[in-house]
Amino acid sequence: MIYTWHQKIWDQLVATRNANHLPHAILISGAEGIGKQAFAEALVNSLLCESPQENYNACGQCKSCHVKHSDAHPDYYQASIAENKTQIVVDQIRQLNNFLHMSRSYQGSRVAYINPAESLNVNAANSLLKSLEEPANNSVIILVTSQISTLLATIKSRCQMLHLPTPNKQVALHWLSLQSTQHSPEELLEMSAGKPLYALKLDNEEHFKRRKDFAHDLSAAINQRQSVTEVSKKWQNSPKDELLDWQIHWVQQLIKYHFNTKQHLPALAIPQSANLNHLWTLHDELIKFREIAHTSLNAQLFIENMLLSWVKLY
Ligand SMILES: [Zn+2]
Repeated sequence: MIYTWHQKIWDQLVATRNANHLPHAILISGAEGIGKQAFAEALVNSLLCESPQENYNACGQCKSCHVKHSDAHPDYYQASIAENKTQIVVDQIRQLNNFLHMSRSYQGSRVAYINPAESLNVNAANSLLKSLEEPANNSVIILVTSQISTLLATIKSRCQMLHLPTPNKQVALHWLSLQSTQHSPEELLEMSAGKPLYALKLDNEEHFKRRKDFAHDLSAAINQRQSVTEVSKKWQNSPKDELLDWQIHWVQQLIKYHFNTKQHLPALAIPQSANLNHLWTLHDELIKFREIAHTSLNAQLFIENMLLSWVKLY
């Protein structure tokens, strides 16, 4: 499925394909929660299909489409993070390299799909270079990432880069308003920093409750009613990205409030003494925490340091 805000890019890709210039490796990038995966899946299905439609969507009828539906397509190989692992490892890419050189079972292309590409470890990335440099016939490698800056330059330079944009607010709000959400589309979109699919995922009571609990505990840590160690212990098994998203959103709300007192304030007990400079410093620190969130090994220590950035406001 192609979301309306990515249709133009799809059309450009179709034109490239009609001119027989489709690259052998495509790197799809863009923010988390805007529909990259849907775009990539549509592309995979279309490449595998034996008789794609005029707009290059998969026909859904041919043998290849049926087999793809069953999740065991012989011309398709997917490399993602295996269970209990944190990276895509070299064995997976060696298998992928072998796969690309096997003969096709159907009339479509052979397709290798790597998602999330930023999770390729160094050995895996180096092993992939071989296939990117010497592409096999009738094969396409599709990589998907939401962290393009962390990918090796040697990988990026050997792929056609396809950046998928985040839709503008009006388009995103319109789409969200059609999804009959429980919470207001405006609120959800703001919490997701403008990413509509992510916003939709946030629309559940359980998420709102956890968020409220964390705001409560964070306030307790800031005001030293509860120790930072206690709070971090409680939250150490929560997804770090989620905790950071909440906090960054709250700091942004606090910053906006300085310019517009009609701005909705988060339910956080922030000391009166916190001025705009403090808030910007805190904001930058949280952004840095996001950059290292996936490399930090000790979750409790990570959260403890994150909370200490707030405590400094006092
Ligand atoms: Zn088909």
